[in-house]
Amino acid sequence: MNRIYMDNAATTRVTQPVLEAMMPCLTTVYGNPSSVHAFGRDARRLLDEARAKVAAALNAKPNEIYFTGCGTESDNWAVRGSAYALKAKGNHIITSAIEHHAILHTCQQLEREGFKVTYLPVDEYGQVSAADVEKAITPETTLISIMTANNEIGTIQPIAEIGAIARAHGVRFHTDAVQAVGAIPVDVKAMNVDLLSLSGHKLHAPKGVGALYIRSGVRLERLMNGGAQERTQRPGTENMPSIVGLGRAIELATAHLDEKAAYVSALRDRLINGILETIPDTRLNGHPTNRLPGNCNVSIRYIEGESMLLNLDIKGIAASSGSACTSGSLDPSHVLLAIGLTHEVAHGSLRFSLNEDNTEEEVDYVIKSLDEVVRRLRAMSPLTM
Ligand SMILES: *Cc1c(COP(=O)(O)O)cnc(C)c1O
Repeated sequence: MNRIYMDNAATTRVTQPVLEAMMPCLTTVYGNPSSVHAFGRDARRLLDEARAKVAAALNAKPNEIYFTGCGTESDNWAVRGSAYALKAKGNHIITSAIEHHAILHTCQQLEREGFKVTYLPVDEYGQVSAADVEKAITPETTLISIMTANNEIGTIQPIAEIGAIARAHGVRFHTDAVQAVGAIPVDVKAMNVDLLSLSGHKLHAPKGVGALYIRSGVRLERLMNGGAQERTQRPGTENMPSIVGLGRAIELATAHLDEKAAYVSALRDRLINGILETIPDTRLNGHPTNRLPGNCNVSIRYIEGESMLLNLDIKGIAASSGSACTSGSLDPSHVLLAIGLTHEVAHGSLRFSLNEDNTEEEVDYVIKSLDEVVRRLRAMSPLTM
């Protein structure tokens, strides 16, 4: 039996065209893009092309794109770099309770350094209210950071609206768009953002490369010191193969976005409806419609997410419980608790994240397999009524 991969929110595979675009950097084009000779100029040309592709995908200018080591670095840089750069102006940051740990743990670090952080609550669907954002702004507020779409429950936030509020109040606005880029339309101008994070490995580029969009005129403190790469703002010799892979991947991911999103959301809805209709005592987490095309997050009562995952794995199905970073710990997901789930229900949650590689046959097999697993586990569960 073929294995079924439904954990694309954790990471995606590098596709053949992306690998082919990268190959020259791993073989013949090995010059340092900072070198003046022909080897260096060949590398520089590929670097410039990749930057232009990332910029085009976001409706930004190439000189507003900075390559980083991962989405986590982009998030750290946006938040810490802004907090430090704007310290003279104020010490207050606004974010949400359901951000990725790359944001939350960075904000917690800043709190230990004396900054003040407001963690906005979300509604039962995981939505941040733009009105709440506006109410939280004080004269001390220097940054608002709200993710475009949540990695666990897939809920999409009203980013353009929040961005308009931030702009009206003269407050800098960052969004973690790691899950959104390549899945839904992302346009830095339409979204009114000043800073936007993305990551290669969530959109078919390799792991270990990311980018930060920094709107022209927005100044950040550097996190590292070194050479003059990335217009002196992010030193370190460029990860050429991965950067070139990211350029090709983002170009492909945004090329037929609407058709792809329509295909993937139909699969997602087939999976969601199949699970809710076939298995009793289940609920969908996240917004019913305003969610990422590939995200299906469900709570299945009376049993543990981890035991379901292991049993699905035996059937060749890869999914996740909570987020990959938190599974292995006994703390239930902060996102599921923030939307109001009890610890018990949060522990019985599964995330299936689909993409254009998945098929209806796979979805139907997953529904059937999950039903079998749930029946067996519930028969043994002390929690079953
Ligand atoms: C995966 C992810 C990150 C971290 O990106 P890495 O490249 O793995 O460091 C940040 N934010 C969100 C929403 C993510 O899904």
